[in-house]
Amino acid sequence: MIPCSDPHASYAARRDAIDGAVASVLAGGRYILGKEVETLEREFASVVGCRYGIGVGSGTEAIHIALRACGIGSGDEVITASHTAVATVAAIEAAGATPVLVDIEPDYYTLDPDKVKKAITGRAKAVLPVHLYGQTAEMGAIMDVAREKGLRVIEDCAQAHGASYRNRPAGSWGNLACFSFYPTKNLGAYGDGGMITTNDGELASQCRLLREYGWEERYVSSRRGYNSRLDEIQAAILRVKLPGLAADNLRRRRLADRYDLLLASSVRTPKRRPEGAHVFHLYVVRTAHRNGLRDHLHRLGIGALVHYPLPVHLQPAYRGRIDCPGGMEETERAAREILSLPMYPELAVENVHRVAEAVKEYGEATND
Ligand SMILES: *Cc1c(COP(=O)(O)O)cnc(C)c1O
Repeated sequence: MIPCSDPHASYAARRDAIDGAVASVLAGGRYILGKEVETLEREFASVVGCRYGIGVGSGTEAIHIALRACGIGSGDEVITASHTAVATVAAIEAAGATPVLVDIEPDYYTLDPDKVKKAITGRAKAVLPVHLYGQTAEMGAIMDVAREKGLRVIEDCAQAHGASYRNRPAGSWGNLACFSFYPTKNLGAYGDGGMITTNDGELASQCRLLREYGWEERYVSSRRGYNSRLDEIQAAILRVKLPGLAADNLRRRRLADRYDLLLASSVRTPKRRPEGAHVFHLYVVRTAHRNGLRDHLHRLGIGALVHYPLPVHLQPAYRGRIDCPGGMEETERAAREILSLPMYPELAVENVHRVAEAVKEYGEATND
């Protein structure tokens, strides 16, 4: 069995250090918002080129809190993609704002800046680019549109720890950026966790306040806040893993290079932005025979998955009530054709060959 991702392998590779870090938090007696979280906030912010980091309960809550820190809520529109984890859109609605969904660039699966521009109404307050699969959106054009129209930019970096665009890290472009530490992400905890990063001291204080009941001073809420805290155990684990992030991402890129070579004549391999550095959270290929290929791989014990089979605007909870100006042609076509092949730093090169062989075999069987 070759899984699509393997968070346990990342634990096994550092078991002693992680066990030690967990034991030391347990013995230390401070379990919520202590030294581990504080230190991780500093270390992680510096890796993504930001001054401030605010640890929160999850990536979804990072987006929710970031929006509220900007004062975005009821009656405000936030422009994002439909081709994303449902979390992105769920967080916008949790903040009370109205998601406006636009189509993607077909080669890169990220927000189409021209379509963003056309979707802006007088109620638009923010654009929320999702750096999907480990590759950033077209941040140059998106920042230009946002500047021209006076919109905030909040980056969804849940799949893009360590990615960059024009040599600047994902997470350092917008007013705020939101990361997830879900176990399968490029930097994963062994539970839920997330982080907001920013260079804006005022926004950072607002996020800090909102993650803990709106407290400026303990037990005195100055804003309506939440309970969304990163815990000390997860922070300690993440501090063990953070120094390995760059090497893990490099390893993902090497595995992607290998897949590219082996698969070039069988399926459409992922296209990389010339101006960016892709960190391959997922390795996503494209074929008209997606379902057949997926079933073939499953029969051989290869865990290929679809990210995501149903765009947000077609899901039962959202269908018919979310504005999609400009249509969703590319999003809907992608959802029919994409397939994520196994990709994680500990994946053996010989298994990349096994997967590629299986993909090729299916191509030959379907005779195209
Ligand atoms: C994982 C993910 C999220 C949500 O993160 P959680 O920590 O699971 O809440 C948001 N957006 C994208 C694109 C994701 O992949």
